[in-house]
Amino acid sequence: MPLRVSAGNLGAAPVPVETVACPECDLLQRLPALPPGGKARCARCGFTLATQPTDPIDRPLALTLAAAIVFIVAHTTPLLGLSAVGRHASTTIAGGAYEMWQQGEPVTAVVVAFCAGIAPGSYILFMLTVLFAVRRPPAPRWVGEMLRWAHFMRPWSMNEVMILGILVALIKIAELATVEPGIGMYGLGALVVLFTAIMVTVDRRELWRRVEWAEGETPLPPAARGSTRAEAGR
Ligand SMILES: [Zn+2]
Repeated sequence: MPLRVSAGNLGAAPVPVETVACPECDLLQRLPALPPGGKARCARCGFTLATQPTDPIDRPLALTLAAAIVFIVAHTTPLLGLSAVGRHASTTIAGGAYEMWQQGEPVTAVVVAFCAGIAPGSYILFMLTVLFAVRRPPAPRWVGEMLRWAHFMRPWSMNEVMILGILVALIKIAELATVEPGIGMYGLGALVVLFTAIMVTVDRRELWRRVEWAEGETPLPPAARGSTRAEAGR
């Protein structure tokens, strides 16, 4: 039996208690199981250490599903249309990145494609997989890996920066041509709001609590439904 030192590993304790270090002042303290809607604050500095959302899975899942639909719409419909001297042209986000590549700006094209397409798309995909998987705890271990990847991708999805850039360009071009924001532009705006809403409603602690442990054991998930399943080592 390998020795494992873990704050939450308290053997057969009936109430799961977690020991955490305050990210602000480093004070080690034990977190009790919180009631839905409850908050735990640091005893020394008052920093909010943990919150227990009333609906930790279904609400972020609904928001992520909405984000997936909006993401598809934002990437398949024109971002903006330009009309000048009787000619009209419109493009999507991917079309814009491709055009930049063609015009000899490969670095900008790759950055736009990654920050406006690949990163937000992967974040939505990873979060959807994680949220569906943890609905029936314990979730397999690869879910934890996916959660890590979702967390890694989140700062790289910069839809808000993209919108700001487009708005600046729109104002500059407006004197030369007639510019019409397309559905894709509104989709990008909605994505910014949805991503923020996902971040606010999702509780990573709760998600981790529902993921199977490294040795195949499962701690008592306080808010999880169903009974605890102790699996023999794999
Ligand atoms: Zn503190």
